[in-house]
Amino acid sequence: MRVFWKSLLVTVGIGVLLAGAGYWWGYPAWQAWLTEREATRIEAKKSVPVAAQAVPERLNHQRMLADLSWMAHPEREGRESGQPGALATRHWLVEHYQQIGLQPAGVEGYLHEYEVQEHIQFSGLFRQRQRQIQAISNAANVLGSLPGKQPDLPAIAITAHYDHLGVRDGQIFHGADDNASGVAAMLELARYFAQHPTEHPLLFIALDSEEKGLQGAVALFRDQAVQPSQLAFNVNLDMLSRDSERQLFAVGTYQHPWLHPILDQVQQQSSVRLMRAHDRPWWRAGRTENWVNSSDHGVFHRHGVPFIYFGVADHPDYHTPRDTSDRVDAAFYQAVTETVLDFIVKLDQQLAARQR
Ligand SMILES: [Zn+2]
Repeated sequence: MRVFWKSLLVTVGIGVLLAGAGYWWGYPAWQAWLTEREATRIEAKKSVPVAAQAVPERLNHQRMLADLSWMAHPEREGRESGQPGALATRHWLVEHYQQIGLQPAGVEGYLHEYEVQEHIQFSGLFRQRQRQIQAISNAANVLGSLPGKQPDLPAIAITAHYDHLGVRDGQIFHGADDNASGVAAMLELARYFAQHPTEHPLLFIALDSEEKGLQGAVALFRDQAVQPSQLAFNVNLDMLSRDSERQLFAVGTYQHPWLHPILDQVQQQSSVRLMRAHDRPWWRAGRTENWVNSSDHGVFHRHGVPFIYFGVADHPDYHTPRDTSDRVDAAFYQAVTETVLDFIVKLDQQLAARQR
């Protein structure tokens, strides 16, 4: 009997040692292998041909650039959530929504005001709690809608965050690419669709407090300013205006593979290379950055709303005071917004056809 217990102890001991060794040496090696394999997969996508000519020009790009510059102007002081620059931007957005003819879709008029007392961020494989006591007051999302040709269909929500980092150590973080570019594109899309109605209703949401942990989007669902069941899809725009390789990432096809044929069609007419990446889990992509929760679309995804996120890769001016309007690549930004417009038109048709 004692021999039995001894041998069992030894077996368990060896098992624990082997598992430990496997974890220390095997796990990092496996992750490194996955990371490398994913990098090769992404690199291969760069050889996919792009159209020589962009999709036809339907948007007013001068107006869009002017809107971007207004938001990234030093007077806006980097639009930190709750600060005067963000408040001015919010009022300016309301005026534009009115001019475009969007219907108020907030809690009070176009606005959904909210406060955040505290928020806890979870991160990492074992979801460590990072307590962040960060009160946010004077924050608001701005919501406006357009009716669809089939008003009973759930809405396609087009989102872009208008807040940025504000002033730090006396330096203004202008946030031209992040994310005045997404908001100006969203406004220009709203102007287009006001004249060219879609099948689905469209809901335009300029979100606040993204830079404080996606709190604007979190508050939106928490306060039931929108219900997941009212939404067919979320198109999130965050950083559209510059990339040295003329690449635009389309994140979400891993979760929603039915988007591939739509993106294939869009790519045929777009001079911007649509890169489908940064959405695969760690057990497939290793330590490759995963952007599924990197902006507001992550909150829509957690509430079960299908999503796509369009955005460029981080550049050297990302989250620095150098993210200014003059560094925007106007030609690229134009091609990107026309591409996004094309995507929304095709998505709307495809989703409506499914309903029949
Ligand atoms: Zn951003």
